[in-house]
Amino acid sequence: MSTVTAEKLKNYINGEWVESNTTVYEEVYNPATKEVIGRVPISTKEDIEQATNAARAAFEKWKNVAVPRRARILFNYQQLLTKNKEELARLITIENGKNLTEALGEVQRGIENVEFAAGAPTLMMGDSLASIATDVEATNYRYPIGVVGGIAPFNFPMMVPCWMFPMAIALGNTFILKPSERTPLLTRRLVELFTEAGLPKGVFNVVYGAHDVVNGILEHPEIKAISFVGSKPVGEYVYKKGSENLKRVQALTGAKNHTIVLNDANLEETVTNVVSAAFGSAGERCMACAVVTVEEGIAEEFMAALEEKTRSIKIGNGLEDGVFLGPVIREENRQKTLGYIERGIDEGANLIADGRKNAPEEGYFVGPTIFDNVTTDMTIWKEEIFAPVLSIMRVKNLKEAVEIANQSEFANGACLFTSNASSIRYFRENIDAGMLGINLGVPAPMAFFPFSGWKSSFYGTLHANGKDSVDFYTRKKVVTARYISPSFD
Ligand code: NAD
Repeated sequence: MSTVTAEKLKNYINGEWVESNTTVYEEVYNPATKEVIGRVPISTKEDIEQATNAARAAFEKWKNVAVPRRARILFNYQQLLTKNKEELARLITIENGKNLTEALGEVQRGIENVEFAAGAPTLMMGDSLASIATDVEATNYRYPIGVVGGIAPFNFPMMVPCWMFPMAIALGNTFILKPSERTPLLTRRLVELFTEAGLPKGVFNVVYGAHDVVNGILEHPEIKAISFVGSKPVGEYVYKKGSENLKRVQALTGAKNHTIVLNDANLEETVTNVVSAAFGSAGERCMACAVVTVEEGIAEEFMAALEEKTRSIKIGNGLEDGVFLGPVIREENRQKTLGYIERGIDEGANLIADGRKNAPEEGYFVGPTIFDNVTTDMTIWKEEIFAPVLSIMRVKNLKEAVEIANQSEFANGACLFTSNASSIRYFRENIDAGMLGINLGVPAPMAFFPFSGWKSSFYGTLHANGKDSVDFYTRKKVVTARYISPSFD
């Protein structure tokens, strides 16, 4: 069993923990305490070469393992992850900072992806038509594509990698994961438990690092597909470079999610959901609520209730009871957020909750921050802040709220709080976003549905999860066969 120490991490290649070829290590911090809890190798292209060779060799065997046998390993993995849920959640809180309840929720979401992937025998079934012409039939078979690379962000160290490797592996591919260098510790347990579940060596490999590893994945001819989750600029780069190198690429990127609150919304429910969606996980969620557009008739009441609820938020180390708001991931992110707060003030927004005040100093904390009277020409409206900063805009009606949301370059999620069915339908038909919530704040789809951002929130065709992931990680072979019929008379 792993413990959290400041030891140097090793890559996992061909079933062994191996030291990276690099001489460069980065410190890993507990963002709630600034304590160094590990040292992560900034691995090199040679490390990727080694991992790819191992994954390529393992693929030749793994692709031929019967699908129900592969699925059985996923079932074992599900059991082991469930048994170790608490330990996994603690690791997430320690390296990422989100509170323990949120971390447990994240572990559960990851497990659900493993459960979905364990359905590989059904998911991999092709289709057939017995008669496409006289004595002619056609059958469509699915096959894995080879070595797949996964590049993950810091904000969901378990859930996001679990969008990728369980399904890719269950479908017969082999995998190289590059976790975020800021949250590398949990990955070790993901590897150890998958190995314990019976996964053969070389099928799942981990190479820690940053740009060089990403470039190594993007350039290696033996890596056939890439799943990326992270910020917009990096996602754009990965999508362009991966495509140029003729790979399949799916890149899930940034967000600026709008929540619309109408006059007929249930006020208490709405405020509870908005606070949780805006400030939960310190706003470091691609499904976080970043902007609320509130209808004028309910705006004053809404703002009063929002301010009151925000004042009751407990900030601190997510391991402690009752703490809701943990730190942002690094000092650099804290400074960037403070810069956005300054910018919001300079550009004329009305600061009604100031996260610069009363934030504990022992970690990278920013308190919950609310700006009122935000406009679409302000930087705090345009850019993804990825921190506990919420912008409020007052609107005349639903139409205006939808028009504002649709001006954003991002289109990941959007939410509506109302009790009117026609408003719900108008919202659904007119908003530009891939994941919608009705009377709830974080509409992240479950494993069996696609995670589907639009516009600058996603580059590619097939999204993560659901049937899209089966298509993304497989290729098809269609057999058309004529049977020269003897006479059976
Ligand atoms: P990031 O883009 O900084 O990093 C993501 C990955 O790319 C990391 O593994 C990192 O090492 C690598 N990387 C960073 N800079 C690079 C560069 N210049 N060249 C090559 N590789 C590089 O993102 P992050 O800060 O870890 O995560 C936060 C971002 O992820 C936010 O924008 C958030 O919206 C997004 N996100 C999106 C989704 C989604 O489903 N759309 C889900 C989670 C997070």
